[in-house]
Amino acid sequence: MRKVYLDNNATTPLLPEVFEAMRPYFFERFGNPSSSHERGQQARAALEQARVQVAELIGARPGEIVFTSGGTEGDNLAIFGVAGPGDHVITSAIEHHAVLNACKRLESLGAPVTYLPVDGQGRVDPGDVRTALRPNTRLISVMMANNETGVVQAVEEIGRIAAEADVWFHTDAVQAAGKIVVNVDQIGCDLLAISGHKLNAPQGTGALFVRAGTTLRAMFQGGPQERGRRAGTENLPGVVGLGRGSALAREWLAVGKGEELGALRDRLERGITQQVERTRVNGGGAPRTPNTSNIVFECVAGGALADALDLEGICVSTGSACSSGSAQPPYVLLAMGLAPELAHASIRFSLGKQTSQDDVAFALERVPTVVTKLRAMSPLWEKGSAKAQT
Ligand code: PLP
Repeated sequence: MRKVYLDNNATTPLLPEVFEAMRPYFFERFGNPSSSHERGQQARAALEQARVQVAELIGARPGEIVFTSGGTEGDNLAIFGVAGPGDHVITSAIEHHAVLNACKRLESLGAPVTYLPVDGQGRVDPGDVRTALRPNTRLISVMMANNETGVVQAVEEIGRIAAEADVWFHTDAVQAAGKIVVNVDQIGCDLLAISGHKLNAPQGTGALFVRAGTTLRAMFQGGPQERGRRAGTENLPGVVGLGRGSALAREWLAVGKGEELGALRDRLERGITQQVERTRVNGGGAPRTPNTSNIVFECVAGGALADALDLEGICVSTGSACSSGSAQPPYVLLAMGLAPELAHASIRFSLGKQTSQDDVAFALERVPTVVTKLRAMSPLWEKGSAKAQT
């Protein structure tokens, strides 16, 4: 049976070139980058080469890159690294749980947090960031691109506000890096997290950009690795994979593949919204990453649609992978003002570097049929084909 993977915001497949780059570091080139012998030095050289590759992807200097175990650790290191009891933090209601739950923990430790709302397109108003500033505001954490909708925030403007107010600015760029150009100097951020498995590198790898001069408290107590910012022997094969994945992502963007992917996503989106009545794109009016499309199918349970598509060989999601299985409608869509039944009726399609025209054609053939079948079984649809859900 044909399999079409349209859940690349959950995770991406490892590129064969990335695996080939990693392979020697499991075997003949294994070594601890902190060892002084030749094998250790070889490992150190590979680590530093990967640091350059990651820095180049986001326009940073190599010394500003700290390797982590992924986006969650990067977000936590950024937040707990600069904020503590007594500090005020500004974030948004649509952040990933890696940021939201870190902020909740901060609150329980005595650091008040402001959760900014978003508009109907899922955008934070930078004016709200400015208004929320307090004399003790220590950190602003607003994501670059949302995992559910792909909506891209006005991070450059927020970066300017943070700089003027002399407040640290962290942005979670996990869903942006490798899909759109990310440049830490253009953004004006002090901290920026990325994750390997969202850019065709291995799961359990990532990096936090820490601008030179940022005072960061380490989270782990241990050895002096990563210049004291992240203790523990580095995941050498993983780091090498992250470096190679970053270099490939940078080439991919440089040759216009991001725009090509955007055109493919638009074809899928247009096809679905034209063929299937009463569908809408969530955040469709805002700038978005080129791979993501979040669509409401009125009178259809998103979970049932995702399951039915899975049986047809198409992988999609009803919310972030971390929250799937939860009966709650996706909080990101609720924050955008969608009624709970519409948030529940939404599906996320996320394309990747490997997605082909044939994959999209296959999805366009199957999605309308499956939706029609599910609607035929829905009492809401029977009564409601005339009555629009709002
Ligand atoms: N931030 C965002 C926006 C994400 O989408 C994710 C993963 O889905 C994370 C953080 C967490 O990254 P990781 O899975 O590498 O811990």
